Amino acid sequence: MSSCVFCKIVEGQLPCQKVFESETVLAFKDLHPQHPIHYLFIPKKHYVNVADLPDDNGNIMADLFAAIKTVAEKEGFAEKGYRNVINTGTWGGQTVFHLHVHLLSGRTMSPSF
Ligand code: 5GP
Ligand code: ZN
Repeated sequence: MSSCVFCKIVEGQLPCQKVFESETVLAFKDLHPQHPIHYLFIPKKHYVNVADLPDDNGNIMADLFAAIKTVAEKEGFAEKGYRNVINTGTWGGQTVFHLHVHLLSGRTMSPSF
């Protein structure tokens, strides 16, 4: 059994508020939302972060961003816009070590980092 919290969500051992699912991608609401809309998009297969992806990473990132585009269009905020954040490693602020892309929206954000 995996000790990774996001693998547990993929395997159905932990609940989540699902917003999207495909063969390769799962997306769900962040437990501690920092924005009115705050979703996490993860590959169902475990990778620690983008640094853990093989150079030829197949369609993993493409699948994640296609899912993000689909959800933003379906939920009606694609035109207003959104921000994606990918934290990598401790210096990058990563706290859950299963690759994920944050989708943040619902209000105007500062253009700074
Ligand atoms: P990171 O800092 O690693 O980029 O972001 C991890 C995110 O995962 C955080 O925003 C945190 O709130 C969220 N998170 C941590 N554990 C869980 C969980 O069990 N369920 C959900 N839905 N989100 C989680
Ligand atoms: Zn995992």
